Amino acid sequence: MKFPDSPKAHTGSPAEQALTESLKELADIKFALDQSTIVAITDQRGTITYVNDAFCRISRYAREELLGQDHRIINSGYHSKEFIREVWTTIAGGDVWRGDFRNRAKDGGIYWVDTTIVPFLDEQNKPYQYVAIRHDITQLKMAEEQIRQQADLLDKSQDAILVRDMDDRIIYWNKSAERMYGWRAGEVIGRRTTEFLFRSISPEYGQAQRMLLERGEWRGEFNQITKDGRDLIVESRWTLVRDEHGKPFQKLVVNTDVTEHNRLQGVLQRAAQLSFVGELAAGLAHEVKNPLAGIQGAVDILIRRRDPNDPEREALEGIRHEVTRIDATVRALLDRARPRKLNTIEVSITELVTKAVSVARAQAIAAAARGRRVQIMFTPPGEDIAVKADPAQIEDAILNLIINAIEAIEEEGRIVVGIRHQSSEEYGEEAIIEVADNGRGIPEENFQRIFNTFFTTTTGGTGLGLPAVRRIARAHGGRIEATSTVGEGSIFRIHLPLNNFP
Ligand code: FAD
Repeated sequence: MKFPDSPKAHTGSPAEQALTESLKELADIKFALDQSTIVAITDQRGTITYVNDAFCRISRYAREELLGQDHRIINSGYHSKEFIREVWTTIAGGDVWRGDFRNRAKDGGIYWVDTTIVPFLDEQNKPYQYVAIRHDITQLKMAEEQIRQQADLLDKSQDAILVRDMDDRIIYWNKSAERMYGWRAGEVIGRRTTEFLFRSISPEYGQAQRMLLERGEWRGEFNQITKDGRDLIVESRWTLVRDEHGKPFQKLVVNTDVTEHNRLQGVLQRAAQLSFVGELAAGLAHEVKNPLAGIQGAVDILIRRRDPNDPEREALEGIRHEVTRIDATVRALLDRARPRKLNTIEVSITELVTKAVSVARAQAIAAAARGRRVQIMFTPPGEDIAVKADPAQIEDAILNLIINAIEAIEEEGRIVVGIRHQSSEEYGEEAIIEVADNGRGIPEENFQRIFNTFFTTTTGGTGLGLPAVRRIARAHGGRIEATSTVGEGSIFRIHLPLNNFP
């Protein structure tokens, strides 16, 4: 096939006339084709034998520069060898090839053409030339690229971005949504978020929907769940997307996971509250401590003056007990408010525990006055353990645990205090001070909270004791552990490191 020049008007035999007409028709077809398509013809080796104007326009080469060359002249280096090989095997085998080429024009500009290469076959069915017919699809490819880049950007966003149609079915779900919720796009497209992102649908959800339609946007917080059942708090921003006629047709949703942020906010708020309470407590404690010491002294004198059988003596003992308790609370408050600096020296743990036990025994005697019989047992270990510690603070911590144990015993019970040495791979060498009681034990729901400041189950408790014990243990580079069984009792252990103390 060869595109001839436009035929001149011809008058002759009917055969010549028919020929003239079909040549004219061919010229018209070529003209029509030239208007809309980019045409090139090559021989069987790929050497260009014909190009139309559209080819010259888009490639910015003059016809003379193209004829006799092959298409390498516009090759942009974008396509792989395999791609080119596939083109050639298809057309050399006599089949039509269709695909997109990315080419480079003479001025270096890149253009895309959708291409159909048709092989023309001789009598042996061998291609003797190829005709390439193409269309400029540069704009389309650029738009595609832009969309891909935007989609990449959406995927890089930390926020879950989703689009719902007006029937609330998901039509877009970005990579962050996959990461945040654990659901893959393929699993959720076509579904409603209310089917799988919420434990229950709150009334706010309906309000949000109404507000979105009325105002075109909505912003708020939701409790949601992930695919594996984790709870999330998300800040959600909804925007109503309208079509070119202003009719609502999609809902764009951007969700930010604020679970951790909210938790930290809570912690900060609590810390601020505590520091306020701490200041208040420190002030109050100073005001209370002096008069309390006065009352304590006066009550002691009154008790000493009473005969052991004096009925008023019991009441006075009761007052002394309460005063001691107030004093302990005030001390704990002070401890909490202004954690004392550690004054560490090398001390004998046996000595510390012995002191704490003897103070606690006085408490146990007072408890006996109120009908509780508590026995405190302590057998010092054969070999003493020395630690570097603040003796006053450790003594306070042990005393605190023993007093708690006394309180946990309802009528009659036993507290066993022990010291031992333990070495483990995780914590190295440690001294362990253990306080075990056979009191009422701590129910599971309370056990989680026993180290929370101000958490208490006893009417006279402050909820400051155990947090203070933990703080003291931690300040020494150690820790506190507890186990408890309702009806059987509790065991608290203070672990103090022997070697890795800072
Ligand atoms: P090469 O390294 O030259 O070839 C890659 C593989 O393709 C080779 O290993 C071989 O297996 C096969 N191959 C290459 N040339 C031939 C051949 N002549 N005969 C049989 N197999 C062969 N290229 C473009 O880049 N843009 C175009 O728009 C374009 N349009 C074309 C239109 C027509 C009608 C024809 C016939 C070819 C067209 N080509 C086009 C292909 C072009 O002729 C070159 O083959 C190609 O540009 C070379 O690319 P390359 O250097 O990366 O590959």
